[in-house]
Amino acid sequence: MEIPKMMKAWVLGDPMELTLTEKPVPEPGRNEVLVKIDAVAICATDLEIIENGPPALIQGGLPFNKNFTPGHEYMGRVAKLGPGVDSYKVGDRVAVEIHAGCGQCENCRKGEYTACLNYGLNYEGHDKGHRANGFTTDGGFAEYAVNNVNTLCHIGDNVTDEEATLIVTAGTAMYGLDSLGGLLAGQGIIISGPGPIGLMGVAVAKSIGANPVILSGTRDNRLELGKKLGADYTINVRNENVVDAVKRLTNGEGVNYVLECSGAPNAINESAQMIKRGGKICLAAFPKKPVEVDVASLVRNNVSMVAIRGEGKSAVHRAASLITEHRFEASLIHTHTFDFEDLLEALRYSRERIDDAIKVVVKMPK
Ligand SMILES: [Zn+2]
Ligand SMILES: [Zn+2]
Repeated sequence: MEIPKMMKAWVLGDPMELTLTEKPVPEPGRNEVLVKIDAVAICATDLEIIENGPPALIQGGLPFNKNFTPGHEYMGRVAKLGPGVDSYKVGDRVAVEIHAGCGQCENCRKGEYTACLNYGLNYEGHDKGHRANGFTTDGGFAEYAVNNVNTLCHIGDNVTDEEATLIVTAGTAMYGLDSLGGLLAGQGIIISGPGPIGLMGVAVAKSIGANPVILSGTRDNRLELGKKLGADYTINVRNENVVDAVKRLTNGEGVNYVLECSGAPNAINESAQMIKRGGKICLAAFPKKPVEVDVASLVRNNVSMVAIRGEGKSAVHRAASLITEHRFEASLIHTHTFDFEDLLEALRYSRERIDDAIKVVVKMPK
């Protein structure tokens, strides 16, 4: 594969200021490959980074005016191998997960590399080698990106470029379900919030046997989509008290698990009432403000609660397997496609949910 010296890349200047420019094509180091990007999906976190900075962390600070390229939900083909790489070859189609972690801290050693203790330490004087594409290292709004081999997974020709960009979102949902720790088959779960992670949560939970799978939210069209992805029941919380509805649907018993993807202020309190005693809640969304929680009810009911960040424990690889086998129609979540040059318009569609945009994908010219 012919690799040019320079590539096109979008670079973040001041907040909300992205410019298409030229950068040198990066060189893969040990255990890294260069990926020629074919498609990249836009995530709510990209919008957050471009507007406010965190959770991106570049050279120990805000990502602005540092020649930083955001974008983290991308796929492409291996263009060049760094030293020590023999598990991939040039031309392989790959999806990527975001975090490589430092590989040496306590959490990375346990597979919890999204919670790396050396997050963002990858610059001179603090060189722990942490990598999170589009967060602490350059990401996918560019023609090429370097990736640690640990973050790659092979994808088959039966998966489209657009579907492949969704694998990391499915992986995040999978990690949430992992963190709940159940077998899930035959156990009830409610997923609150039909955003991309919530919808993928429905699809993954259903495909690994959860029953019933309930989805709650405020928008009927999103709930309908949830049904197509595998929800047995949906609840529009504008029309119905969600706790009453869950009890009605489960013979008054409640569900075993909640995957909380709404970030609603009362989500934890409601979750605690929707689960059985001893049930588990996984928090996967960011409430805008600190919330008030009825801790006594959590204690009384022996509730376990876990929060997840991103897509640890190789969950992306397992999600890729479900998508490759077409266990659910991931492409339903992809709503719009734009050319690479039109990234700003693509971001606007995503931010303002124009035309009910869910996952907006930007494609490179082939
Ligand atoms: Zn994302
Ligand atoms: Zn680490």
